[in-house]
Amino acid sequence: MKSETPARPRSTKTPKRRETLLRGIAVSPGIAIGPAFDTSEAPAEAPRRRITTEAIEAERQRLADAVAFSRKQVTKLKTRIAILPEEAQEEIAPLLDAHLLMLGNSRLIRGARKRIETELLAAETAITDEAAAISDAILGTKDDDRAGLSRRATEVRDIARRVTRNLTATPFRSLKNLPEGCILIAEELTPSDAALLDPARIAGVATDEGGADGHTAIMLRALGIPSVLGVPGLTESVRRNDVVVLDGAAGNIAIHPEAATLTAAKEKLAAYARERARLGRLRRLPAVTTDGEAVELQANLEIPQELPLIAQAGAQGIGLLRTEFLFMNREDLPDEEAQCAAYRQILEAMGQDPVTIRVLDWGGEKDIAALAEGVAPTHAGANPALGLRGIRLLLRRPELLEVQFAAILRVAAELPDGQVRLLLPMVTIPEEMKQARDIFDRVARRLRRRGDKLPEKLPLLGAMIETPGAALAADAIALEADFFSIGSNDLAMYTLAVDRGDAEVAYLYDPLHPAVLRLMQFATEAALRLRMPVSICGEMAGNPQLIPLLLGLGIRSFSMNASAIPRVKQAVRGLDIGDCARFARRVMEQSDPARIRELVAGFAAGAGEKA
Ligand code: PEP
Ligand code: MG
Repeated sequence: MKSETPARPRSTKTPKRRETLLRGIAVSPGIAIGPAFDTSEAPAEAPRRRITTEAIEAERQRLADAVAFSRKQVTKLKTRIAILPEEAQEEIAPLLDAHLLMLGNSRLIRGARKRIETELLAAETAITDEAAAISDAILGTKDDDRAGLSRRATEVRDIARRVTRNLTATPFRSLKNLPEGCILIAEELTPSDAALLDPARIAGVATDEGGADGHTAIMLRALGIPSVLGVPGLTESVRRNDVVVLDGAAGNIAIHPEAATLTAAKEKLAAYARERARLGRLRRLPAVTTDGEAVELQANLEIPQELPLIAQAGAQGIGLLRTEFLFMNREDLPDEEAQCAAYRQILEAMGQDPVTIRVLDWGGEKDIAALAEGVAPTHAGANPALGLRGIRLLLRRPELLEVQFAAILRVAAELPDGQVRLLLPMVTIPEEMKQARDIFDRVARRLRRRGDKLPEKLPLLGAMIETPGAALAADAIALEADFFSIGSNDLAMYTLAVDRGDAEVAYLYDPLHPAVLRLMQFATEAALRLRMPVSICGEMAGNPQLIPLLLGLGIRSFSMNASAIPRVKQAVRGLDIGDCARFARRVMEQSDPARIRELVAGFAAGAGEKA
């Protein structure tokens, strides 16, 4: 990482060192204390590029699109700071206004456009060159306010970097090599960015954007990195190397913490370590209720780096292996051999334990941007979450599904029958199950003809129940599926029309909304009537407070981020199924989400007292 970029002065005032407190969405518990590392200062990594005369118009359009997108980003940041104290707003708003001005018909943008036309430069090269020329000119001005000049020059380069990042859509590859022990500060982190983080190096993560159950949050929880997302005013309040205290359970951030804040954080850190040791002792104990009902607790896996955590947590296998990681941060598609190797590594690590592999769920907020052009140009439509996502995309491009099925079948053949199951994302109609099964059978026949070894019995094929449509048609889908897995994250998003990754509407995202619970109950009962296995693999499954309700609805199989397993097991071991069923009936009579939350908290407190 180059260090030519000076720390970005954000205000004309002398920097204040007093404690600043910010609040966001608590997404991954734990305390982090460390120096801030602000990614907005990381130099963009675009190589210099030239274009031909024929490409001028397209390049001008690329620049215009990236500038428009950058304006959108800054405008959004501006609306988000409205909830900050007035003093903070006064400091931050003029900076964002200046950025917006520069993203208008400014000298920077006009100059970049001209360089595209006259010097035949690619848009990212043109804007970088223009920003360098402007900032050199500013710094060369005869003016005694050197700090002011340097600030203006840096702002111009910052804007050019933002536009370049949006032009190249490169993930922050530099995230792999962050300074040890730092707290990563970013406007927004994509799931692909988060997958590159090394939990051994990084103490915590905080971002302006993001919601509680978005995939970035899920990834951060999976990696066990204390994190707070959706923090208004964050990137404008923190500078590189500022000391930051982050509480990922409370959703608090303190910049330049006072001595008392630091002491309290250190005490909490020690308490976490003690709690971890205590929960570690549960590893070998069974997940059985007080009246002897066995409950299956499995892990979700996002990236293979989680395997050691899954082993430590005492999971009974993997209930949701999200395969998106195979497709992230690369320019091409993983072939059958590459996929076989990846599945084999995971299945070998899991020994005899069952593993449910979900085929690619690409689309919606899941970004596999590098592949978007060649494979699914429509994926970035006006409403990507309602577009060609999950099984819809796979049936449109069956070659993707065929490669994945073939690789899974080959690896499953090396294991005892039944150890591997397959799961289809975003099923909404029974026909999708049927079509996928036809492809599955066809792939099996092809492998057999090719002389490949196959499992004696083909793996079961299940459906994710994660849209209201699927939940309400669960009885019809059940006739085509071998098992159900309830994806409460998307189910809540689609039921409530609330984007799970959007900080703006995070206050409305509530899996305890009666509409979501009723859909879950309907789907669960449809499966139970047919004696078909049903489990839940959304983030709800990892919340110990919600376990009594879910057990009461009849669910006995839970898949969650590995670090949640010990606490969930502790909850299960203190519960009686009869009590849970009575409790669930009471909850399902309610229509007010706030009352449901109250009941859930009350039941958990009562169970805690009994334990
Ligand atoms: C869900 O939607 O609840 C789920 C488990 O799938 P994902 O989070 O990967 O969309
Ligand atoms: Mg989902």
